[in-house]
Amino acid sequence: MSRFFSSKYSSLEAYTPGEQPKDMKYIKLNTNESPFPPSKKVLDAVAEQASLLQLYSDPECTPLVAKCAELYGVKKTQVLMTNGSDEILNFAFMAFCDSQNPIVFPDITYGFYPVFAELNGIPYEQIPLNDDFTINVQDYVGINKNIVIANPNAPTGIALSLDEIERIVSSNPNNVVIIDEAYVDFGAQSAVCLVDKYDNLIVTQTFSKSRSLAGARLGFGIASEALICDMNTIKYSTNPYNVNRMTMMAGYGALCDNDYYMNNCKTIAQNRSYTEGALIDLGFEVLPSRANFVFAKSSLISGEELYRKLKSRGILVRHFTKERIKDYNRITIGTIEQMKALVSATEEILKELKK
Ligand code: PMP
Repeated sequence: MSRFFSSKYSSLEAYTPGEQPKDMKYIKLNTNESPFPPSKKVLDAVAEQASLLQLYSDPECTPLVAKCAELYGVKKTQVLMTNGSDEILNFAFMAFCDSQNPIVFPDITYGFYPVFAELNGIPYEQIPLNDDFTINVQDYVGINKNIVIANPNAPTGIALSLDEIERIVSSNPNNVVIIDEAYVDFGAQSAVCLVDKYDNLIVTQTFSKSRSLAGARLGFGIASEALICDMNTIKYSTNPYNVNRMTMMAGYGALCDNDYYMNNCKTIAQNRSYTEGALIDLGFEVLPSRANFVFAKSSLISGEELYRKLKSRGILVRHFTKERIKDYNRITIGTIEQMKALVSATEEILKELKK
C-alpha cells in the first residue's frame, strides 16, 4: 500500500477472481464460463464494430436495450446495461445503500457482496444458511433492510422458488431487494415477471454464463423505471460509456440468437445431471444445483487436496478456503467430454488414495 492510499480503503479486502492460468491448457471448470462459443451473429457484429472503434459507444445502448426489453416483456426504461453484472450490483449498492440503509445477504454467497459493501462504507449483515445450505426465507421476511440474494445461489447452486422470492420482496416494501440471477437460465425461475408489481425489486442478469460472453463484459438490470433512473444517475456519474461498442452489438447479436443459447443451457443441464450422478456414484455429496456448476464434497479427500490433484492432471475447479465450505469444490459444468474427463480423473485420484 502506498502512503497515498485513502485511509477509507485501508481495511478493504478486494475480491479474488478465479484463476485464469497461462502456464498450460486446462480443462477449465473454475469460473462458470460457457464451454460453447458465441454464435456467428455475435462474431460478425464484433468484427463490424471493431472498424468503428474511433467512435465512442452509445451510452444508452439503444438497440440492445430495445431487444432486451422486447425479450423480457418490459419497457425500455426498465432496463440498464452494464459492464458485466458486477457493475450493476455495485451501482445498486451505491445508489440504495449507505450508513442508514444497510444490506443483508447469506453467509455463503457471491464473494463480491461484502466487497461492494466495504468499498462503499455500507454496514452489512451475513445471515447463515441452513445446515443443508438452503436459504431460510423466513430470515428475510420483513427484515426491513436492503437485501441481495443470488438465485440460484453461488457457490451452492441451490435456488429459491418464485413464490419464496415474492414473499421476501413483498414483505420489505420500504427496502430494495436485489435478486442476482447470474445463473437463472440453467433451470431456476426468474423474478423479472415481478418487476411491474414491486417497485422495490431489482433483477440482475449477465451475458457471461448462459450467453457465452464472459470476456465481453456485459450484464443488465431490470427494475421499475424509478430504480433504473437512480442507477443511471450513478452510471452517468462514473462511466457513461460503460459498455463498449463491440460488446453492445455482441449482446444484441446474442439476444437475436436466443434459441442457440437457450439450447446450450439445456445441454448444460443434461451434463449437470450426468455429473451429479457420476459424482454421487463415487461417494460424493452433491448439492441440488440449478446453475451451471455443482458444489460437491467427498468424505475420502479434502476439498483442497482434490482441487490440487485435479489441477496437476490439467483440470481446474474452484476451491474456497472459507471454513464452512472448505470441504467442497465448485465444479463448472462444461461439455460432456469435459465432464467425463473430470469424473475419470476424480475416480483415478480416489483409487490412488486407497493404494
Ligand atoms: N453474480 C454472481 C452470483 C456471480 O457468480 C458472478 C460471476 N462471478 C457475477 C454476479 C458477475 O458476473 P459478471 O460480472 O461476469 O456478469
